[in-house]
Amino acid sequence: MAGIGTIVHSTACRSDTRTALETDLDRAMESDEFVLHYQPIIDLRTGEIRAAEALVRWQHPRLGLLAPDCFIPLAEQTRLIAPLGDVVMRRAFHAARSWRRAGLPPIAVTVNVAPQQLERPQPASRVASLLAEAKLEPSAVLLELTESAAVRDLDAAARAMHELRELGVRFAIDDFGTGYASLDYLRRFPVAVLKLGCGLVRTVVEDAGAATIASAVVTLAHDLGLDVVAEGVETAEQFEFFRDRACDMIQGRGSGAPMPDELFRRLLAGAPARAPAPAFDA
Ligand code: C2E
Ligand code: MG
Ligand code: MG
Repeated sequence: MAGIGTIVHSTACRSDTRTALETDLDRAMESDEFVLHYQPIIDLRTGEIRAAEALVRWQHPRLGLLAPDCFIPLAEQTRLIAPLGDVVMRRAFHAARSWRRAGLPPIAVTVNVAPQQLERPQPASRVASLLAEAKLEPSAVLLELTESAAVRDLDAAARAMHELRELGVRFAIDDFGTGYASLDYLRRFPVAVLKLGCGLVRTVVEDAGAATIASAVVTLAHDLGLDVVAEGVETAEQFEFFRDRACDMIQGRGSGAPMPDELFRRLLAGAPARAPAPAFDA
């Protein structure tokens, strides 16, 4: 089983390693070296698991389990991001379907989508056929618009998102306010959820400016009828901060790190209906 604590991040990836990875990426796709871990997204009011974010890792034969920051930017530069995105979606949809078939609580699965995936021809029908293949209903899926590069063709992305929304697929803006994502996205894109990134969440307790921004974003999102997820919640103080501001959901190591499918299933099966996350027990 892939270890949770042994993942290699880009800071540990030397630049000669990165060059080698570029050559390896193609092969990795062929030989199916990508694995998904799932991280619970918890309802702040009830403690229930509402969704799982699918996070890709590369089980590299020589370098070990690589975190996405080692290879997603590379995949974006080499245009492999779209086929890799399809691999991730196919696997995540099948996993979500198999949780349901196993009688586990019917939660949503969230999948990260790079802008390039929405700029390809017919992105909506690609997603629709992956959903049909997995026999998963579109309402079980939330796509997170994740950016390490700006959306180049806003109109094409907006069109694809509206088509998918009509199918019943929902969207989240990932790491809102910290990357390229602008307020304009909220007007142009059919968004259901805003995710506050780890960088902001980490500082809300000590930094008054970060606290003001986080509170304002929660209010803004609610005024727009959107749900908010605070990502990277690790401590009881951060948990209380977001609970006190009526944030809807949290995701973070405090309530469950990303984990392999078999562990996630166990968590979902054992999760008592209204259990608060263990790290936040008084
Ligand atoms: P993200 O989508 O914002 O995912 C959340 C990241 O925060 C994950 O890192 C997760 O492991 C990390 N995280 C979760 N809880 C905590 C916490 O309590 N503290 C801290 N410090 N971090 C926490 P991960 O798995 O390394 O993913 C990094 C990024 O890679 C993702 O950020 C996403 O932008 C990208 N990514 C992951 N999977 C995919 C994918 O399938 N496709 C694309 N395009 N991008 C992906
Ligand atoms: Mg994400
Ligand atoms: Mg995020």
